[in-house]
Amino acid sequence: MIVDRKPLTFWERLYLPAIWGGFKVTWRHFANSVFRGHNTAKELGDGYYPEVPWKVAEGYRGAPYLVRDQDGNTKCVSCQLCEFVCPPKAIRIIPPGDSGLKADRANAEKMPKEFEINMLRCIFCGFCQEVCPEEAIFLQKDYSLTALTRGEMIYDKEKLLALGGTHAGIQKWKQKADEAKEQETFPVKPEMIRP
Ligand code: SF4
Ligand code: SF4
Repeated sequence: MIVDRKPLTFWERLYLPAIWGGFKVTWRHFANSVFRGHNTAKELGDGYYPEVPWKVAEGYRGAPYLVRDQDGNTKCVSCQLCEFVCPPKAIRIIPPGDSGLKADRANAEKMPKEFEINMLRCIFCGFCQEVCPEEAIFLQKDYSLTALTRGEMIYDKEKLLALGGTHAGIQKWKQKADEAKEQETFPVKPEMIRP
């Protein structure tokens, strides 16, 4: 289907009416704030940011941080899946290598020597959280990340772990050990199978 494009009228080609229309909106807001004490941001429900921080909704996906388990151990096992899947290549992981750092918990082969997220690149897409087999990285509620230099926007492992805190209620390896123990009994009874 061919859509006929209407030619611009004389006044539309001048652009002056559109510019005048824009000035009218600006003037209306200016007059409302100066003479009537209105605050457009407040009326829209945004409050006086940054003095009053914006309250994020439940399920909001902000900056991704590393988390520790309930015992304070590093959950990340340096598998690098998140680094591979990250669309803007914001994650950089240095695995421990041969002489490497030992994992600080049982049932984990290794943990990263270094783990960096470049927050200037991160688009808060959540792929890292989705792909992580260890539930070690979560998008949290931080949306206002500021720094004086570009270098400060690259968050290292210690900073990511400090910001991420403990993610209570997750203890994947304990759950796996319990499952394995249950399966030692053979044959498996129907009530032992988890939905
Ligand atoms: S949220 Fe997306 S862009 Fe940010 S680090 Fe994770 S995968 Fe990369
Ligand atoms: S955060 Fe998860 S996906 Fe990324 S390296 Fe660590 S264990 Fe692997």
